[in-house]
Amino acid sequence: MELHRRTISNPLRSSKPAGKFSTETDSASAVQASDALPLPIRHTNKLFSALFMVSIYYLMCRWRDKIRTTTPLHVVTLSEISAIVGFIASLIYLISFFGIAYVQSFISSHDDDDEFLLPSNPPAPCPLVCSEKPPLPAAPLSGDDEEIVSAVVSGKIPSYILESRLGDCRRAAGIRREAISRITGRGMEGLPLDGFDYDSILGQCCEMPVGYVQLPVGIAGPLLLNGKEYFVPMATTEGCLVASTNRGCKAIAASDGAVSVVLKDGMTRAPVVRFATAKRAAELKFFLEDPRNFETLAIVFDRSSRFAKLQGIKCSLAGRNLYMRFCCRTGDAMGMNMVSKGVQNVLDCLQNDFPDMDVISISGNFCSDKKPAAVNWIEGRGKSVVCEAIIKGEIVKKVLKTSVSALVELNVIKNLAGSAVAGALGGFNAHASNIVTAIYIATGQDPAQNVESSHCITMMEAVNDNNDLHISVTMPSIEVGTVGGGTQLASQSACLNLLGVKGANLDSPGANSRLLATIVAASVLAGELSLMSALAAGQLVKSHMKFNRSSRDMSKSLPSDA
Ligand code: ADP
Repeated sequence: MELHRRTISNPLRSSKPAGKFSTETDSASAVQASDALPLPIRHTNKLFSALFMVSIYYLMCRWRDKIRTTTPLHVVTLSEISAIVGFIASLIYLISFFGIAYVQSFISSHDDDDEFLLPSNPPAPCPLVCSEKPPLPAAPLSGDDEEIVSAVVSGKIPSYILESRLGDCRRAAGIRREAISRITGRGMEGLPLDGFDYDSILGQCCEMPVGYVQLPVGIAGPLLLNGKEYFVPMATTEGCLVASTNRGCKAIAASDGAVSVVLKDGMTRAPVVRFATAKRAAELKFFLEDPRNFETLAIVFDRSSRFAKLQGIKCSLAGRNLYMRFCCRTGDAMGMNMVSKGVQNVLDCLQNDFPDMDVISISGNFCSDKKPAAVNWIEGRGKSVVCEAIIKGEIVKKVLKTSVSALVELNVIKNLAGSAVAGALGGFNAHASNIVTAIYIATGQDPAQNVESSHCITMMEAVNDNNDLHISVTMPSIEVGTVGGGTQLASQSACLNLLGVKGANLDSPGANSRLLATIVAASVLAGELSLMSALAAGQLVKSHMKFNRSSRDMSKSLPSDA
């Protein structure tokens, strides 16, 4: 870390153009030679390690034979030449890979995001469990299940160590579940235990599991968006929701489809730091917002990951406290971890130039994550998306059972004026969060981010001589990823696959998550269209009674146009 600080902190003070430093540091932190190899890095590592061992063993044997038979050492056979070449190649590879990585680990403890330095799913830090308890010895637990359950019930064995000490996640979940049942005196029969891969969530998605909750997944679609059809998975227990969204999709498809554009793509994290005086806090604000410093700060920030690209820093003061909202691209990841690591890199670096800076928290709520906040509504967070469609007047009548003028009027009175009366913050819509949350759960997004992801203004206008309806949704803070977090799990990953956005986009990192954001917006548009039509036609209560109260087969109850 010191090494980086020295090379970076001087340019920050100097008046030299930042571009010079960008070139130097780019090459220093450049991608390793191993990146160019066609095989996954773990395979090339194994290959070159094996080549190294075999060639060195063979050469030593040949050396011993030559000494025994007094053959001159410089007389070499073809196989010996091959072994020498193999030895040199593997030695160069191993030194360049492990040597550099080893040195880097001393230079910067924050450059560890890339897959070849960490397991492919790096475990998220777990302050509740890990920081409070000292690590326990990893000796495996002995005894049968009954003995271990009793020990957990009596408190001799903490429940949270079961996975690591048993080395069997399914067994750990079963034992914990039985112990909880005994402690509470309540069974968990309805909560399934089997049929889930507990290894896949270890250190990543959920601690101390005892089972999993089942949620139905329905499909709305085809959703015709930017000329392509998508079948949208929605996990929900709200009757009508999928059927209604499906009806909206039908109206969109019958009207030449929706068009969606990503306006902005940047995840944010805003640490808060404190100085002795507001004047000093203001000095740092001016420093951070000076365009001449940006390039150098971006280099420091972007070391957090190959995919991190700092876009901007917005500062705000509250007395001597400074809030710095860093915004960065995060490839196909939703990116909270990535942006937090980048922020930490910059804070470490700034400490050199501002030693009186007191870092209060890596998150100072100006980010703002999972809380309603005007900053996200105005500035955007994650993907800012607009989506529109022109619904033909005849489709409004035939499929949506209402009229263009009724929809336009209702939208003004309810979504615009009504929300203004309510003092809404980003809530100028009918039910965006219904669709956002159902898709988030199905595709492994963080459902708590539905708060800002559901910010949406729905606009409706009569066009083409008042015959057709122009509808749009503008959503500034859709926070989605197709790698990391819950997206890796089997069910969620299957839903992403259905949409054609599973995992990382290798050709254009970030393209999968941006496409997912446009699908979310277009699905919201379908949901808005259908619910607003139901309200305009006075159908809402009727339809809820039909779908939510009936014990009959829902598919048979669907109206013919649904
Ligand atoms: P999140 O914060 O959304 O949980 P992380 O910031 O933890 O996600 O990072 C995702 C991980 O996936 C990183 O280790 C990153 O190197 C890796 N990764 C692989 N391919 C991509 C990609 N195309 N875009 C973003 N991250 C990727």
